[in-house]
Amino acid sequence: MDIQTISEEEAAIRQSLADVTAGIEAACSRSGRKLSDVTLIAVSKTKPVSMITDAIRAGQLHFGENKVQEMCEKHNELSDQPITWHLIGHLQKNKVRKAVAVASLIHSVDSVELAAEIQKEAARIGKVQDILLEVNIAEEESKFGLAASETPAIAAEIAKFPNVHIRGLMTVAPYTPVPEENRQYFSALRQLAVDIAQQNIDNIDMCCLSMGMSNDYEIAVEEGATYVRVGSKIFGERIYATEGSSAT
Ligand SMILES: *Cc1c(COP(=O)(O)O)cnc(C)c1O
Repeated sequence: MDIQTISEEEAAIRQSLADVTAGIEAACSRSGRKLSDVTLIAVSKTKPVSMITDAIRAGQLHFGENKVQEMCEKHNELSDQPITWHLIGHLQKNKVRKAVAVASLIHSVDSVELAAEIQKEAARIGKVQDILLEVNIAEEESKFGLAASETPAIAAEIAKFPNVHIRGLMTVAPYTPVPEENRQYFSALRQLAVDIAQQNIDNIDMCCLSMGMSNDYEIAVEEGATYVRVGSKIFGERIYATEGSSAT
């Protein structure tokens, strides 16, 4: 890089990306894993595109958004950038067309009906859409996702769609001030992936585990995460607009 002054915003993002990467590296060495087996997704939801370009200059290429509209707008503004987009938030059927147009990986598939819609839109544009199945592994009432017990059968149904490729599982663990408490859920998600992989169903591979956020990503890596989704630890706390002003 040329010697030039960079903004405070960019310096802060560069530093936090380095910190998070060091955390992933430490977790890898504690658990005998390779750093190259873990992909950091920078969750840029609610944050401006200037922060995304700051992160790109620091070498970050995978970005996650939880809303289809926001992902598509940022994708358009940054169409000259080599970004891999991850859709990590709940997906409604009427937004599937836009999601499939942009997302490399949809992390949040939680029904056969949604997968059928993805099949339709992916076939229309000649794409095979990579997806993960979202599992509500902690059985929280407020959360989206499949129950662990129904996941193998639903995976087998979705595997029949030729334009939808299941690559693994995703979970959003409970928020807890004691991240160690989430280890049991990360380990359960990995075990579920192992169980499904053993069924040897065509068109399913269980190579990817998307788990771990700002608070608990190191524990998720120790338990086998291949994607960690980190937002506030990279870009700072999110400030949400009050009611009425945030369309999805
Ligand atoms: C917002 C979000 C994240 C990132 O959360 P942080 O705690 O800010 O790291 C990860 N996964 C999903 C599904 C999210 O919606």
